[in-house]
Amino acid sequence: MATNPYDVVVVGGGPAGMMAAGKAAALGKRVLLLEKNNRLGKKLRISGGGRCNITNAEEDERVLLRAYGKAEQFLYSIFSQFGNKDTFSFFESLNLPLVVQARKRAFPTTERAPDVVRALEQYLAKGGVTVLTGTPATKVVAGPDGIEGVVCGTERYSGSYYIFATGSISHPETGSTGDGFGWLRSLGHSVVAPTPTIVPLKSKDKWPALLPGTTLSNMKITFFTEGKKAFSKTGALLFTHFGISGPVVLNCAGMVSDLLYEGVVTAQIDTSPTEDIGALDKRLLAAFDAHKNKALKNMLKEVVEPGAAKAALVLMDQDLAGKKVHSITKEERMSLAKLLKALPLTIEGLMGFDRAVVADGGVPLDEVDMRTMRSKKVPNLSIIGDLLHITRPSGGYSLQLCWSTGFVAGAHTEFE
Ligand SMILES: Cc1cc2nc3c(=O)[nH]c(=O)nc-3n(C[C@H](O)[C@H](O)[C@H](O)COP(=O)(O)OP(=O)(O)OC[C@H]3O[C@@H](n4cnc5c(N)ncnc54)[C@H](O)[C@@H]3O)c2cc1C
Repeated sequence: MATNPYDVVVVGGGPAGMMAAGKAAALGKRVLLLEKNNRLGKKLRISGGGRCNITNAEEDERVLLRAYGKAEQFLYSIFSQFGNKDTFSFFESLNLPLVVQARKRAFPTTERAPDVVRALEQYLAKGGVTVLTGTPATKVVAGPDGIEGVVCGTERYSGSYYIFATGSISHPETGSTGDGFGWLRSLGHSVVAPTPTIVPLKSKDKWPALLPGTTLSNMKITFFTEGKKAFSKTGALLFTHFGISGPVVLNCAGMVSDLLYEGVVTAQIDTSPTEDIGALDKRLLAAFDAHKNKALKNMLKEVVEPGAAKAALVLMDQDLAGKKVHSITKEERMSLAKLLKALPLTIEGLMGFDRAVVADGGVPLDEVDMRTMRSKKVPNLSIIGDLLHITRPSGGYSLQLCWSTGFVAGAHTEFE
């Protein structure tokens, strides 16, 4: 085992770790950055659907910080040291200007997430950071005065100060497998379990709330981002007070949460997926003939399953719902067929952790000095990025946390 003298050892080469390592090096520290993958920023490269929603451009800091829910009060200090405006100038200084798009989401003008990684690599190189990729930390050695070293296979790396930036557990194929949570627990920190991604979906529309408990036993749901078709799933669906649930929906949630990073997500529910609109219209016509004098609202369940009839009835014009079917025009019948083939929804987010991938879980903020990012349990350790328990929405808020916490941790690595 060799001991390598560094001032600062950063574990985890995602956005938070790269920012922290670069900042400490810019202040003259000898910095080692350990990354288990063969290249840096694997999750960052796929962020924002590959375009990287790098921050949120909300100008009013209070409004911006309110989006972090209970964490708001903890964040004023670090955002005053490095806020979203600093993110703009930081990346501009690395020749990567940003552009603000819909809902104040900021992206690199190139709209290429790998360009963000490249810019950060330049920052690391400029400061002379030693970067070891393909180097998973397997063990943390600690003594009474704090951390003494990080073991990577047969090597042991030491510094006077350590920064953990190993991320959470979402998309483990990117390297974020929760390693840091284990070390932090053994060092005396508590770790709030991240919320699972399999959750019901919250809808912006109020109509599902009028049908709680209503099911569709065989429907096809198609999701769209910014109007562009993303994917479809077929199976059972349940309307709830807040939106939609049921096995198919639960299993879509992970993918939907990724789509939410790309823009507005809408969905269409096809209540009759085994036939085309022409065949459905024919069945409607035949049923209208057979029940001429009934009001549409009293006979629609003869044509489609009761849940589909209920949903269509709450969505359609109420005059049409009350009309006797013999007086329904061809156009009205076609618009009903269209509705049954595409009940419209706008998805607001995932239940339980408002609109995000795994957007919570980690070390509670009261265990960290939120002016410096230093652990309150371990004297020579800082904890940053997704390792922290901060609930936040999509829209650039997660990466802004990485820039802010990374910068502040990198700026406070003196052993006090
Ligand atoms: C699909 C997707 C899209 C997203 N899009 C956006 C977006 O557009 N905007 C936004 O704000 N947020 C987005 N996010 C969230 C954002 O990517 C994360 O919040 C951010 O990557 C967290 O950064 P981090 O540095 O804390 O951790 P990570 O990015 O998870 O990086 C941690 C790094 O540590 C390394 N590591 C782990 N264990 C070890 C070990 N034992 N030894 C050495 N290295 C280790 C990992 O390999 C990894 O490289 C998205 C997330 C996902 C999953």
